[in-house]
Amino acid sequence: MGNYRDFHRRSIEQRDDFWAEQAKLVDWHKPFGKVLDYSRPPFAKWFIGGETNLCHNAIDRHLAARAEQKALVYISTEVDQERSYTFRELHQEVQRVAAMMQSLGVKKGDRVIIYMPMIPEAAFAILACARIGAIHSVVFGGFAAASLAARIDDARPSLMITADGGSRMGKAVLYKSLVDESLRLAKNPPAKVLIYRRGLDPTMPVVAGRDVDWQALAARHAGAQVPCAWLESSEPSYILYTSGTTGQPKGVQRDVGGYAVALASSMKLIYRGEAGETMFTTSDIGWVVGHSYIIYGPLIAGMTTIMYEGVPIRPDAGIWWKIVQEHKASVMFSAPTAIRVLKKQDPAFLKKYDVSSLKHLFLAGEPLDEPTHVWISEALGIPVIDHYWQTETGWPILSAVPGIEKTPIKFGSPSFPVYGYELKLLRESDAAEAAPNEKALVAIVPPLPPGCMTTVWGDDERYVKTYYSTFSKKQVYSTFDWGIRDKDGYYFILGRTDDVINVAGHRLGTREIEEAVSMHPAIAECAVVGVADPLKGQMPLAFAVAKAAVDDRKKLEKEVMDTVDKQLGAIARPRAVHFVTLLPKTRSGKTLRRSIQALAEGRDPGDLTTIEDPAALEQIRNALKEESAPK
Ligand code: AMP
Repeated sequence: MGNYRDFHRRSIEQRDDFWAEQAKLVDWHKPFGKVLDYSRPPFAKWFIGGETNLCHNAIDRHLAARAEQKALVYISTEVDQERSYTFRELHQEVQRVAAMMQSLGVKKGDRVIIYMPMIPEAAFAILACARIGAIHSVVFGGFAAASLAARIDDARPSLMITADGGSRMGKAVLYKSLVDESLRLAKNPPAKVLIYRRGLDPTMPVVAGRDVDWQALAARHAGAQVPCAWLESSEPSYILYTSGTTGQPKGVQRDVGGYAVALASSMKLIYRGEAGETMFTTSDIGWVVGHSYIIYGPLIAGMTTIMYEGVPIRPDAGIWWKIVQEHKASVMFSAPTAIRVLKKQDPAFLKKYDVSSLKHLFLAGEPLDEPTHVWISEALGIPVIDHYWQTETGWPILSAVPGIEKTPIKFGSPSFPVYGYELKLLRESDAAEAAPNEKALVAIVPPLPPGCMTTVWGDDERYVKTYYSTFSKKQVYSTFDWGIRDKDGYYFILGRTDDVINVAGHRLGTREIEEAVSMHPAIAECAVVGVADPLKGQMPLAFAVAKAAVDDRKKLEKEVMDTVDKQLGAIARPRAVHFVTLLPKTRSGKTLRRSIQALAEGRDPGDLTTIEDPAALEQIRNALKEESAPK
């Protein structure tokens, strides 16, 4: 692994030269004078004085060589539609939307909240903001009105863009009426709301003077030409609110130049996407993965990007592979949870389509358990790269980097620190570096590399306090994740530091116990939480989804407990193993462990606005009732 190790070392030791080289992957209207300004730690400013534009790099610069190549392919299994746009057409559409926004008074630096389903118009709106230097904040369509109102009050947008509705599992979701409700709750509502009508809400109410019809306005701006605004590299490009665990959502702010460079570089070195090829990222534009690898990343690389509106098992569990076959996707990016869903379906679907165009499948967002990693790798017969990152970083922190070296994959590990990240595993007690295989906090020595968050929107102090205050004697960025590094230098993420449980003085990561439970061949997936125990402080409690119907729950429970005993020791044995058919998750696939834990401890489950299916929580409640009922 010499090549990659040297490459990484160079990115840290000769930081400026290294990033100056990567910066050649994007177009600069005005060259930067200085690579990094780190005069006010931990705030890093990249490519000082350089002027560029994300939309120019994503669209305009490709017009000379690939105007007639498809840039965006929209596939909806919800409304049964497919539309595609070449780079030339995307250029026209984005300019038109930019002109529409300008006609509604949007100027450089203004915020625009985009609350839209997965339709091409959402991509046009995002790119149009980037084009004119407006700051977009995409809010995931699943957020409830109160969460949306909190984001409106924090971002204070001059315009909101929405659609009448979206569709999920064939059922209409009324976006516009939710926006109306959020605007009633917000203290600082914007003056205008632009609405794209899909015909999904025929009775949609319209507020005169505030609501503007997209199609009518678009008709007035056909053929509009709107040049790119040249922005200084560290000006803000967008705000993305983090899927908050507690309290006020944090507005992760990103820059222009650093982000463009990080994405261009990652497309080449990590994802191995070539201009002219196709990338299929199954995320949503409301999440960071959607920003970086549905919209900006693939387009900056001159690739065709697929925007998929639908779920992985409708009309059947072969739909993704059918898309890969039809569009000859070479790079695919998804999440472990989706793969676990597919694992429960008929494996024949994976063999039905020709997916030989795929070079890699990348997975991120949550721990990828070893059995799932093995299963999908064998099923596809290509390298499946687990990589680890956060909304805050915008691109991977840990990953294999096949563009430099094809390092072997270790199942369950997201491989190595990505170039540009000086990663440390630090002991919580004294901030000292951990030994191999010793569990410690995953921390990044600042400055964060290009592409990462530059601050919390409107609150520099909160940025420093939240992320850099774990240790009093060392200013490092805390990921709030536990990790270990093995003797070969591979990292393993063991879950959030805030999800740690303490059983009779022993610290255990819920992830470790989940891994152990999943080792039982009958288990598809599980969630383990720590619940208060009068004797031991905390006890693990497991909720498991079995691959098939469970005939004898007691017997399987005993077997699972024995498996945990065997893997981790009796200290980690769950108080009980409950069998459910689905786990409560957010729509981005994160298990709502805090809510499960709260229910198990008789508390309120908290904010459930992003829950995928409330029935999952009902199953948890029932399981807990059964446990406490007299036997
Ligand atoms: P978010 O910002 O919502 O995407 O969540 C980021 C968090 O998801 C990280 O701090 C990790 O806890 C978790 N995460 C993301 N990717 C991975 C991965 N590949 N392995 C383990 N955990 C991950």
